[in-house]
Amino acid sequence: MLEVDNLHVSYGAIKALHGVSLKVPQGSIVTLIGANGAGKSTTLRALSGLVKAASGSIRYAGEEITNLPAHKIVSRSLCHVPEGRMVFANLTVKENLAMGAYLQRDKAWIAKQTDYVFRLFPRLKERENQAAGTMSGGEQQMLAIGRALLSNPKFLMLDEPSLGIAPLLVKSIFERIVEINREQGLTILLVEQNANLALDVSSYGYVLETGKILLEGPSAELKANPKVQEAYLGA
Ligand code: ATP
Repeated sequence: MLEVDNLHVSYGAIKALHGVSLKVPQGSIVTLIGANGAGKSTTLRALSGLVKAASGSIRYAGEEITNLPAHKIVSRSLCHVPEGRMVFANLTVKENLAMGAYLQRDKAWIAKQTDYVFRLFPRLKERENQAAGTMSGGEQQMLAIGRALLSNPKFLMLDEPSLGIAPLLVKSIFERIVEINREQGLTILLVEQNANLALDVSSYGYVLETGKILLEGPSAELKANPKVQEAYLGA
């Protein structure tokens, strides 16, 4: 479904990605792991048109989307949940979800999908009238995912959903990610520093190091790889 070939991205003189290639098959969860500054967020930003690719290609559903403007990529049902979540702090939970649905015209679908998000994250239902900025980091992460689901995506990019969240809540959010993949048929590219959990929920993984893919393989194989264990799993 998504194919990235030999992607290069620079920020001025800084080369952030030099030759990243990866594939995300339809219906799968694929994870991209790597240390701070490896280029994980940059990869997602390039996929969603927020930074320009200097060279290389990104194909989605058989079509070239490299360097299309971000709104054109969103309109093809790719949705990016950025690191740091970026919920609208002054709006309530309900209003944030409504903002996610701003391109949707079918009111019945919006109501049904909002119910789905509230079933997935009952905590959001309990707090539907609370200002998003006053919620905990984990609750805001749920909201960011919920808001993304209201845009009716087919391809979801999640940038470090575990960042700054208590371990118990992280586990629960990852379980919901698996549910979303199964129940909504969503294809997911998950970027994570928490390699353990990310490899548990994904079928295939890539290890990014200083802008290059160092290793790739089925998640279970990566998890068993001594190099990965030493560098990313704290073994
Ligand atoms: P983290 O896990 O810390 O978020 P990451 O793997 O997502 O890291 P990126 O944020 O993609 O890494 O950064 C890759 C490299 O590009 C880093 O060296 C970073 O300093 C650099 N970089 C990122 N954004 C910019 C920018 N706007 N201007 C200049 N350099 C940048």
